[in-house]
Amino acid sequence: MAAFKWGVDFEKTGSLILDLLPQTKNLFVVSGSSRFDRKVKKLAAQALGKLQVPYAIEYLDDLLIEELLLKVARLPENSAILYLTMYHDADGREFVPREIGANISKKANAPTFGMTDTGLGYGIVGGNLFDTVNQGKKYAEIAIKILGGEPLTNLEFMEKGNQFMFDARQLKRWSIDESKLPAGSIVLYREPSLWRDHKWEIIGTFVIILVQALFLIGLIVQHQRRSRAEDESQRLKDELAHFSRVQAMGEIAGSLAHEINQPLSAVRNYAEAGQHFLNNNPEDTGDVIKALAGVVVANRRAEEVVKRIRMALKKESFKQSRLEIEIVMQDVLVFVRRKAEEQNILLKLEIAGGLPPVFGDRIQLQQVIINLIINAIEAIEAIEVVEDRGDGFGEVIVQVRRVESDVVTISVRDSGVGIDEQQSDVLFDAFYTTKPEGVGMGLSISRTIIEEHCGRLWATRNSGKGSTFSFTVPIYEEG
Ligand code: ADP
Repeated sequence: MAAFKWGVDFEKTGSLILDLLPQTKNLFVVSGSSRFDRKVKKLAAQALGKLQVPYAIEYLDDLLIEELLLKVARLPENSAILYLTMYHDADGREFVPREIGANISKKANAPTFGMTDTGLGYGIVGGNLFDTVNQGKKYAEIAIKILGGEPLTNLEFMEKGNQFMFDARQLKRWSIDESKLPAGSIVLYREPSLWRDHKWEIIGTFVIILVQALFLIGLIVQHQRRSRAEDESQRLKDELAHFSRVQAMGEIAGSLAHEINQPLSAVRNYAEAGQHFLNNNPEDTGDVIKALAGVVVANRRAEEVVKRIRMALKKESFKQSRLEIEIVMQDVLVFVRRKAEEQNILLKLEIAGGLPPVFGDRIQLQQVIINLIINAIEAIEAIEVVEDRGDGFGEVIVQVRRVESDVVTISVRDSGVGIDEQQSDVLFDAFYTTKPEGVGMGLSISRTIIEEHCGRLWATRNSGKGSTFSFTVPIYEEG
C-alpha cells in the first residue's frame, strides 16, 4: 500500500514568517476545539517546537470565537498569527474553517499565515500551504494506476503537495516585500497591472513609437537642412543675379545717361521755346501751352527711364508671374539701343504676332536678354577692322517666336566674331571670359536664371557670320 503523506509543513511556514517579518516577537497559533482542530494543533506544536526562532509562540485555542476575535484585534506589536483550523469553538459552535479564518484575519492587527491553499483568498497572507489541487491530482494518478492493475508495491511514494503560496493583496496590506518571498512562490490575487501583464506589448509599442519618432525627427531635420540649404542657394543666386545686373548696367551706363539726357535736353528746348514765345508775343498763349505740354511729356520720358533703371538695379528675390513678352522687350530696348547706335550696329527686334503671355521673373528675364545683346554687340566690336563688319555695320537681330507649343523662344543673333567648337562647352562656365575687362559671369548666371524658369539657354554658330544665343521661357498657364 502506498503511503500518503499529509503535506503540511509548519516548520517551513515558521521560518518563512521570520524571513518575511524579521521583527516578529510573538507568533500566535490559532486553532479550534474540535478533535480534528486539536490534532492539527498537536502536529503544529510538534513541528514548531523543533524550530530555533527568536520569537515566542503562544497557542490561542479552546476560546470562544468572540474572545478570539477580541484577542487577535489587540495583539502586541510585531506579532504574527498562524491560523490552523477551527471547526468548533470552545462552545462547540460549528464553523467552516476558511470562513472563520477570514473573519480572524479581517479583525487581526497582525498578518495571518495559514495552512492550506483553501484559505488563500480568505484573508491569510499565505505560507507553505498544503496544495489541495496538486495533492488531489497525485491521488487521482495513483488511483488510475491501481485501477489499471499495477501492483501497489510499484507505486511511488506520495510526495508532500506543499507550495509556498501567497495572496498579493495581503502582502500589500502588511507591507511585505515580494522580493523576500522564497523562490518559486506562487502569488495569487494580484491587482491587474498593465505593465506586468503586458510588459512585452508595452515595450514593443514603445520601441515602435520611438523608432517612428526618431525616423520622423530625422526626416524633419533633413527637410529643415535641405530647405535651409535651398534658401541659402536661392539667396546666393539672387545675389549673383543682382551683381551681374549691376555689372551689365555699368557697361551700358553711357547709353543710360543718353536715355536720360535726351528727354532732359528736350525739356530745356521746350522751356526755351516757351520763353521765346512769351517774350515775342505774350498775348499768344497757344504756343506756350504746346511748349509746356512738351516739357511734361519729355519729363515723363526721363522719369520712365529712371524708374526702369531703378527697377533693374533693385535687389529682389526670384518671383515668377504672368508677363507680356512685348513689354519685357520694350524695356530692354531702352537700355541697349543707344549702345548699339554708338557702335553703328543695327539692332532689330522681330516679335511674332499673337504671342501668349509667359511665366517668369520680369527683371531676371530682362537681365538675360540684356546680357545676350551686350555680348552680341561686343562680339561685333571685337571685329577690329570696321570694314569687315559687313558694309561697315554689324547687325544684332532679336527674334521672339513660338517655335514649340509650350514655350516662347527668344534668340539673339549677331554678326560678330562667332564661337568655335571647343568654346561652346566652356562658354557657360563661371569666370570664362575672352574679354580683357570681362568677368565671365554673364552667361553662367543667365543659364542659372533660365534653368530656374524651367527653360533652356544654348549657343549655336551661324552658317554665315557670328553666333546665335537662344533661350526658352514657359508659356503662362491659367490656374
Ligand atoms: P563676359 O562677357 O564677362 O566675358 P560672359 O559669361 O557673358 O562673360 O561670356 C563669356 C564668354 O563667352 C565671352 O568672354 C566670350 O568669349 C563668349 N561669348 C559670349 N557671347 C558671345 C557672342 N555673342 N559671340 C561670341 N562669343 C561670345
